[in-house]
Amino acid sequence: MGSPSAPVSIAGGGIGGLAAALGLAQKGVASILLEKSATLGEIGAGIQLGPNAFHAFDYLGVGEAARGMAVYVDQMRLMDAMSAEEICHVNLREAFRNRFGNPYAVVHRGDLHGVLLKACQDHPLIELRVRSEVVGYDQDGSSVTARLGCGDDVTGRLLIGADGLWSNIRKKVAADGPPRVSGHTTYRSVIPTEQMPEDLRWNAATLWAGPKCHLVHYPLSGWKVFNLVVTCHNDAPEPVAGKPVSDDEVMRGFAHIHPRAQAIIRHGKNWKLWVLCDRDPVERWIDGRVALLGDAAHPMLQYFAQGACMALEDAVCLSHMLASYPDDQDTALEHYRTQRFPRTARVQLLSRAIGEHIYHPSGEHARLRNAIMSAKSSEDYYNDLAWLYGGTGLGS
Ligand SMILES: Cc1cc2nc3c(=O)[nH]c(=O)nc-3n(C[C@H](O)[C@H](O)[C@H](O)COP(=O)(O)OP(=O)(O)OC[C@H]3O[C@@H](n4cnc5c(N)ncnc54)[C@H](O)[C@@H]3O)c2cc1C
Repeated sequence: MGSPSAPVSIAGGGIGGLAAALGLAQKGVASILLEKSATLGEIGAGIQLGPNAFHAFDYLGVGEAARGMAVYVDQMRLMDAMSAEEICHVNLREAFRNRFGNPYAVVHRGDLHGVLLKACQDHPLIELRVRSEVVGYDQDGSSVTARLGCGDDVTGRLLIGADGLWSNIRKKVAADGPPRVSGHTTYRSVIPTEQMPEDLRWNAATLWAGPKCHLVHYPLSGWKVFNLVVTCHNDAPEPVAGKPVSDDEVMRGFAHIHPRAQAIIRHGKNWKLWVLCDRDPVERWIDGRVALLGDAAHPMLQYFAQGACMALEDAVCLSHMLASYPDDQDTALEHYRTQRFPRTARVQLLSRAIGEHIYHPSGEHARLRNAIMSAKSSEDYYNDLAWLYGGTGLGS
């Protein structure tokens, strides 16, 4: 089972796990993907994708399909949620695409997951198994056996832990306890475009930044719907994922912001609540033949809109390293870790800093943000973001 032709086991069928299976298949490596849920899918909300995600899609062989389901926003726009005035915007049109070789886009998570899933289903080297929760693993130096909750075992040459924020695999690999509860509460809603205030139907990834709160909106799915994500820093103590909440409860954290920004929230329906978690960067991603990937390795707040992008880059890097060292998995996994750790740690820590200094400041701190950010040109922002958007997972 430890032979190079034996399959790799992957725990988790999210964006990271599917991308890893595709990356391995591109290199001729077979995999068995083990997903705990009864079906493979994603929640019905949007996701922003930087050009680095599109570099990864191309590498994974799904570039055209991914481009086909995206909405290409013209701007990232930052609004002051207290004054309802624009602070700045970054042009995402031709100059941006020329600079980074790929677009900035927004997609429906279900559509993105569907593209990756179809490519996996169509590939003869990938086997997908549902109702297969990995609860632990054992290894003997030549193979690794994933233990499933149902009592079955799956033995492979490697085990990739792509099992998300609450990863069982991480419990053994990093053994660093539960994730950190950020105290930030996010509410998500997707509304038909005709319910979005007409004067706010911008072709932009828009952020309204206010004291201890912010709003994000952008069009999705060929402009059929708008994605609304609103967040307040209310010191929520417990992790929560996807709990339905009333419209009144959502409004409570936003009573202090401009009526124009509040009006956006009033258009939301069927809100669901998440209390966000992340982790401090930790270098222990590898245990023998077991490696972490995506949120299992580096869960981050969403303020840089990069968690899924980083998972895609991980998949590119992992498959590249395994193909580069076909007879030396230890070296391949070590190169994967040393290449991915600094970059993902930087994004994890910057995501927190962005929340504090751009998304949620008040008073003087907010005035300073406005002064600094409004003084910059799009070209300045391109230069600031080049280390991130120019990356591919293969080194930037
Ligand atoms: C509000 C919000 C907005 C975001 N916006 C963006 C954005 O705009 N851009 C961006 O790039 N990222 C964004 N992210 C981050 C992004 O959603 C995640 O980083 C990404 O989905 C992680 O993918 P993953 O495959 O690593 O983990 P997950 O998506 O969590 O997938 C893990 C999978 O593993 C399965 N699983 C769990 N445990 C087990 C087990 N023990 N055995 C088998 N299967 C298991 C789960 O059912 C799931 O299918 C956002 C996150 C949030 C919360």
